[in-house]
Amino acid sequence: MTRANRDCDVLIVGGGGAGMAAAIEAADQGAAVAVLEAGTRPGGSTALSGGVVYAAGTSIQRAAGWDDDAERMYRYYMTFNRWNLEPWLIRRLCEESAPTLGWLLGLGVEMPVDGLYVSGVEDVPRGHHTRGSGAALLEHLLGAASARGVAINSGVRVEALLVEQGRVAGVVAQGAVMRAGAVVLATGGYGANRAMLAEFNPEIAEQDERWSFYFGSETSRGDGIRMAREAGAAVTGAGRLLVNASPGFSRDVADFHPPWLVFVNRHGQRFMDETWPYCIAGHRIEEQPGRRCFAIFDEPARAASPSRHPFADKLGVGDFAYSGDRLAAEVATGRVIAAASLDELAARAGIDPVGLAGTVTRYNADVRGGGDRQFFKQGALATIETAPFYAAEVHAASFGATSAGVRIDPDARVLGADAGSIPGLYAAGETAGGVLGERYVGGGNYLSNALIFGRIAGRGAAADARQSA
Ligand SMILES: Cc1cc2nc3c(=O)[nH]c(=O)nc-3n(C[C@H](O)[C@H](O)[C@H](O)COP(=O)(O)OP(=O)(O)OC[C@H]3O[C@@H](n4cnc5c(N)ncnc54)[C@H](O)[C@@H]3O)c2cc1C
Repeated sequence: MTRANRDCDVLIVGGGGAGMAAAIEAADQGAAVAVLEAGTRPGGSTALSGGVVYAAGTSIQRAAGWDDDAERMYRYYMTFNRWNLEPWLIRRLCEESAPTLGWLLGLGVEMPVDGLYVSGVEDVPRGHHTRGSGAALLEHLLGAASARGVAINSGVRVEALLVEQGRVAGVVAQGAVMRAGAVVLATGGYGANRAMLAEFNPEIAEQDERWSFYFGSETSRGDGIRMAREAGAAVTGAGRLLVNASPGFSRDVADFHPPWLVFVNRHGQRFMDETWPYCIAGHRIEEQPGRRCFAIFDEPARAASPSRHPFADKLGVGDFAYSGDRLAAEVATGRVIAAASLDELAARAGIDPVGLAGTVTRYNADVRGGGDRQFFKQGALATIETAPFYAAEVHAASFGATSAGVRIDPDARVLGADAGSIPGLYAAGETAGGVLGERYVGGGNYLSNALIFGRIAGRGAAADARQSA
């Protein structure tokens, strides 16, 4: 296909973080770039996000006095995921993380030094918070793309890839063909597509939707994954998902569980520090027998719980799932079980009564003795000794992003079942699998994936389009 037969050199499907990063890079390579965006405006989950980006060896870390580098991030990332990842992808992610942070700062994205924090369980802080969160991050990307002449078309949902003589040569949208030298699929994940969730994460899809729900962009319908598969792409990462724990009272993100309650499994045993970071907590809960977990507390703890979320400002949330008033209201709905004794509570919740009694006795003794000697939980601990006693069932099954996607190589080329690349086709962000592992390394892991591989895809697609002209 000559340049004259094309509508553009590089066509980007999806205007979220990955798509806009790809568009900017492709334009910087001299390509004529068009973005087709299904939503009424670009943004997707990126615009809803906290804007935290995970990176090592950055100028912000140095300014905060931290010594870090890509090799150290790589070791942590691989070990945290039991080395069950393709090193070529993870090494590229780690090596490109600091340059991408610098690139974002160069675009005017503000990441204050005091916004740097330990966002997972790493020993060096790598979570870089964007001032203004994901909405501001997206605005900067949009501004940079517009300044480079990228054509952004919203309200256009791409339906299929155009494949000619074994090469991806464009897309079909709204019944019309649009031709390009190379195509980047950046349509986000499949969180809003329950059928795809059932295929890739059946153990989450089969749970009650009171707990098993998606809180990301409603346009995350797995379109890019479906289209790439139709063109012969392989899929990787099935079974992986970062799950958040919630008592299921609402669809709020509820990954803060106050220190005054204890979690027990159906044997009545504690199994974690209830305040562990979300990159660990959800998985620990879903590993329990039958995936069942109960938050146990008593009346004085309930009555003393504040109505405002302790991190309301930081998280931008309103209601607090564990507020005293909310818990009282949930007793009335039956979603919190109340009982006059621990034995009765155990019987009604389906928890082993002997296990629960033993756990509470030991825990109370620890609290009276000055601390949690089993899991070393910090914070305002409280004994569980004054009726009514309460149990709220907690599931780790809600999620804001998905991890399975089309297989790519380190240059973001989409790979087929034979591990060879599909000519003219690139993917990045949640559309691509393989970078997100069985464990989320920390806040910022998803955006790093989207931005870093988006940039790589944009550069590769521009070069590809040039060569194929
Ligand atoms: C509340 C929340 C907070 C989060 N906070 C963080 C955080 O702080 N740090 C972090 O690392 N991750 C975070 N995440 C996850 C992160 O935001 C996403 O993984 C990341 O933004 C995905 O980027 P993406 O470009 O792949 O997808 P998206 O940003 O979702 O972009 C995909 C775009 O493609 C469009 N699209 C879909 N189908 C089509 C189609 N057929 N044709 C055309 N366009 C289409 C969509 O409308 C969308 O605009 C958060 C997620 C949520 C929901």
